[in-house]
Amino acid sequence: MRIANMTEIKAKQHPSLNLPKSDTCLQVAIINTTTDIVCPASGFVRPVLKGHEYLNFSTAAFHLKHPSGKEIMFDLGCRKDYWNFSPFTFETIQKMIPGLSVKNGIDEILTEGGVDVNNISTIVWSHWHWDHTGDASLFPKSAELIVGPGFKSNELLMPGYPTNKKSAMLDSDFEGRKVREIEFSDGFKIGRFQACDFFGDGSFYVLNVPGHAVGHISGLARTTPDTFVFMGGDVCHFGGSFRPTIYRPLPAEIPEDTPLDKKRFGMSCPCSTFTACHPLKNEGEEKAQTTPYYQVTTAEGSWYIDPPMAQDSINKLEDFDADPNVFVCIAHDEGLNDVVDWFPNGTLNDWKKRGWKEKSLWGFLNTLPMNGKPARENFCPGLMKDGKLVNEWSRFELSDKDRGVTV
Ligand SMILES: [Zn+2]
Repeated sequence: MRIANMTEIKAKQHPSLNLPKSDTCLQVAIINTTTDIVCPASGFVRPVLKGHEYLNFSTAAFHLKHPSGKEIMFDLGCRKDYWNFSPFTFETIQKMIPGLSVKNGIDEILTEGGVDVNNISTIVWSHWHWDHTGDASLFPKSAELIVGPGFKSNELLMPGYPTNKKSAMLDSDFEGRKVREIEFSDGFKIGRFQACDFFGDGSFYVLNVPGHAVGHISGLARTTPDTFVFMGGDVCHFGGSFRPTIYRPLPAEIPEDTPLDKKRFGMSCPCSTFTACHPLKNEGEEKAQTTPYYQVTTAEGSWYIDPPMAQDSINKLEDFDADPNVFVCIAHDEGLNDVVDWFPNGTLNDWKKRGWKEKSLWGFLNTLPMNGKPARENFCPGLMKDGKLVNEWSRFELSDKDRGVTV
């Protein structure tokens, strides 16, 4: 049953991020890497809701262009031939990932969209996980590889395979290439994150955003003198992990231009439709309208290397999401899918003028369960190769315990 006239919660004034001033902007394009992943929710979030036992991830990367002509890739998606990752990484995919489909490699996507991969001067990896690192060998050796703190000294990561038989990475990612680890200090922060001014002109900041994986970093690109895109990587994996908050409460009525599944939810969408499955629904509507749906899981098998630190990073991310001049785009946010102009059909630079933040904020609600029923079929039924299910690789079966349903 729907309750009419839900309370409109007044948003609290957002904390100041102390965003530095500059007139130098980047051209920022968001790329669908065609990496579609199905994961058990229990590895990412708590509690696990009945009907939302799986998270489906689309995977974004970014192409950035500096006024000097320098071109940067922020993340690369998954390599199309993911069976050619190091044995460690391919075995991890086989053991841990119920569904994966990669239609195109990042090189194909860029070339098709009119970007010459030979012009890329920098690759930034938000972190070392396979759905972000792609295949760096497709890019010229002159392209510097930027990684976060602790990457280069971690023996799981460097050197790569086959030099180190147990490495998660490949020698071919690093061969002949400068790999630079960003150093951070408390001397320069944006919001509550340590920051590095990459070009020294205020156009692009790399932020230290730890907790998910060794050396996890995010990017903050200036899209106009006053606006920014926050390229979150995997600071978290779902819109409901950092929304709603006291700064961005769930509105009484979800705005009409949010691309929600009208067939499923009806033409008007009071927020009670969505707070009905909120883990804190019994603590009152206001609590449910101002608290993210999920926390980082602390269970064994968590994809977060340091769950409390990851939660702390998410809390800091919420400050950015609260600021109307920052458009937060985490890599796996499906809420962006039907809203923004994807590469090569435009850039994100006009995101504020075009209202893309407001339109995409609540898109994650689409994938929440209703009455314990899932939103839809999973992206793919198993590990896919060239569009076909590869049965012999699909050994992954979730036990009830693995599903971890607690609510
Ligand atoms: Zn990821």
